[in-house]
Amino acid sequence: MKTAFITGITGQDGSYLAELLLEKNYKVVGLVSAKHDIGSQNINHFKDKLILEEGDLLDKDSLERIIKKYTPTEIYNLAGLTFVPASWKSPSLTIDINTLGLSRIIEIVRDFSPSTKVYQATSAKIFGIPEITPQTETTPPNPVDPYGVSKTAAHQLVSTVRKQFNLFAVSGILYNHESERRGIEFVTRKITNTAVKIKLGLEKELMLGNLEATQDWGYAPDYVKAMWLMLQNDKPTDYIIASGELHSVKEVCQIAFTHLDLNYEDYVKIDEKFFRKTESQLIIGDPKKAKKELGWKPEFSFKDMIIKMVENDLKLLKGDNK
Ligand code: GDP
Repeated sequence: MKTAFITGITGQDGSYLAELLLEKNYKVVGLVSAKHDIGSQNINHFKDKLILEEGDLLDKDSLERIIKKYTPTEIYNLAGLTFVPASWKSPSLTIDINTLGLSRIIEIVRDFSPSTKVYQATSAKIFGIPEITPQTETTPPNPVDPYGVSKTAAHQLVSTVRKQFNLFAVSGILYNHESERRGIEFVTRKITNTAVKIKLGLEKELMLGNLEATQDWGYAPDYVKAMWLMLQNDKPTDYIIASGELHSVKEVCQIAFTHLDLNYEDYVKIDEKFFRKTESQLIIGDPKKAKKELGWKPEFSFKDMIIKMVENDLKLLKGDNK
């Protein structure tokens, strides 16, 4: 039986990945942090099938204890400080968790469990304002916020140590991916959730920042499949995982409100406080390599995904209202 250790198991990606690996008969061990936990709502419905271990990416001893205890076949490092505006509040904490957290895992794997394969969650935010669009695995990083800097350093650490330490360590460069489990502070979920609240008479308006901002958005359950495929590959190498399409915040509003028979222009208001200090631009990924070498392909379109999120928020909020 294969064993997977997932950091960030209570998050959007960690919870979908855990479900995928359980279907594949893995023993799934998850890191839960008392200090940095985002809540267990994403794993509550299958918690009894998981092994949860208390620890933190900031605490090397806790990671060492867990990795020595299970010598996992695979480690998926998905935990981190993930919200870009929050990374400006504390660049040092961002780097401590997102960059040094990974280096702690790498050192432990090198010293105590060198056959463990390691997956690192790299973000498209490493490209910031990219030289080339769409980006490929060889596009140079050029981050524009502390989050992007922390992810760039971790990304580059993976490729340097895999040669020097002879480890099977890979980075998945994942573009924005959303779902019913996306945190409420991220724009897609903020829009679907507030649109549903407006429909139900619980809110009157939706305050947003830059409506023209664009992203390459995919569906998280499609993206966690790519993580697993990368560790089943015969060689350790990095992949871009993206939809290859750009959509704007305005389009998310249009799809969500129209699905609820509302006109977004009647409810959306602009608030300067939601504008970014710096904004990544033309971040579109070319997933050709993953499609060709891993046979990966996304199942859900952008529009289908937004509608699924609206439907789920309707279910949740109607339930709360009873
Ligand atoms: P990110 O790409 O990881 O930072 O994901 P977000 O979902 O937080 O932001 C996606 C895009 O939406 C960014 O380009 C933001 O500038 C833009 N955006 C516009 N209005 C808002 C808002 O009210 N909240 C958030 N989170 N993003 C917004």
